[in-house]
Amino acid sequence: MYQEYAWKKYKEASLDKLTEFNEGYKNFITKCKTERLCVKESVELCEKAGFKNLDSMKELKPGDRVYAVNKNKNIAAFVIGDEPLTNGVAILGAHIDSPRIDLKQNPLYENDTLVYLDTHYYGGIIKYQWVTIPLALYGVVVKKDGTSVSIAIGDDPKDPVVGITDLLPHLAAEKMQKTAAKVIEGEGLDILIGSMPLEGEEKDPSKQAILKLLNEKYGITEEDFVSAEIEIVPAGAARDFGLDRSMVAGYGHDDRVCAYTSLMALLDTPKCKKTTCAVLVDKEEIGSVGATGASSVWFENTLAELINLREPYSDLKLRKSLTNSVMLSSDVSAAVDPLYPSVNERRNSAFLGKGICFNKYTGSRGKSGCNDAQPEFIAKLRAMMDENEIHYQTSELGKVDQGGGGTIAYILAKYNMNVIDAGVPVLSMHAPMEIVSKVDVYEAYLAYKTFLQNA
Ligand code: MN
Ligand code: MN
Repeated sequence: MYQEYAWKKYKEASLDKLTEFNEGYKNFITKCKTERLCVKESVELCEKAGFKNLDSMKELKPGDRVYAVNKNKNIAAFVIGDEPLTNGVAILGAHIDSPRIDLKQNPLYENDTLVYLDTHYYGGIIKYQWVTIPLALYGVVVKKDGTSVSIAIGDDPKDPVVGITDLLPHLAAEKMQKTAAKVIEGEGLDILIGSMPLEGEEKDPSKQAILKLLNEKYGITEEDFVSAEIEIVPAGAARDFGLDRSMVAGYGHDDRVCAYTSLMALLDTPKCKKTTCAVLVDKEEIGSVGATGASSVWFENTLAELINLREPYSDLKLRKSLTNSVMLSSDVSAAVDPLYPSVNERRNSAFLGKGICFNKYTGSRGKSGCNDAQPEFIAKLRAMMDENEIHYQTSELGKVDQGGGGTIAYILAKYNMNVIDAGVPVLSMHAPMEIVSKVDVYEAYLAYKTFLQNA
């Protein structure tokens, strides 16, 4: 069902399922505002669905359901299929890191009675969107003795929030002459967190008061920020959006909407011929680098473990397994925003409400740096989607030479597997409040299930 309004498919009874699924999704992104929290919640969902930690397995046989976690930021779940692993794995790969603002290693300072946290933003953000909104703090502080403290401030209704201030219009005449890229600068994204001085302190009394509070509540000192990972994210829950409640507004749709739908598709799919997998990676927004990013050998190593637990292991078997695998790089697409029609070429653009979007290629300036999917592979996907009445569309990221971007598709494609980007269209991508259509969320889930069963 190519490029049609997906809502038309839904009558009252099936609408209930769609709504219920989106409630689950809203709950997921409300609870999971960091990659660590996404992994924690995913482990819980896996265990509830009968998946076991791969470390606890002595052997693997068809029907076994297992998961593996990498450094608390990266998870892969598998359902072992009937065929040998050398026949390849059907993989759904999404990322669970989202654009945000990170603390610097030495972040705390006082200036003119106010206490701030100095930051370095993470991923591609339009900086002016992040000021004068309530923000929350999430993360971990790992102390020298190896113990770690989890921090979550700003989402419990009883919690305070923090945020970034901006000039009043009365005094902004000079500032308003700046370009949008310069109107809020990277070093201007400091988070205001306190203003009450500690009695008896001469130097930085308000900062001392915050340090006292942090020490009392979390047992941490200023130096402990050196080994901390604190992320500043929008405060508040994901909400229904629109008078008709047809959309979801929330933080982190890119790419938690594809992560959740991919994981749920795997959990809800019984044993197939091929082994099936959902892998959730970190660091996509900064180039998929690092030990927990898609470029890490962790996934390859995990697949090697799987082979080793099913049959006598060889390097050749691992290579065959990777080559014969197929993957949907489950990542979001930029939806057409009718308020900004000039950036898209409408015949090759994604629209809210027309289902999951396949991107044959991303890249920029002559498709540079992208995975350009094989037409043979795309034809199979078309057949699968049509046979199962899945609504799908295809798009490019904007007009030719308008801009561009990348995903994890090309990274897995280097193993010689067929990969294509497939995900949910998003409005206001990378903003503190992103918007998706509920029907696209549900169609993506159905499309991912269809892929796992038929790949
Ligand atoms: Mn993405
Ligand atoms: Mn992104």
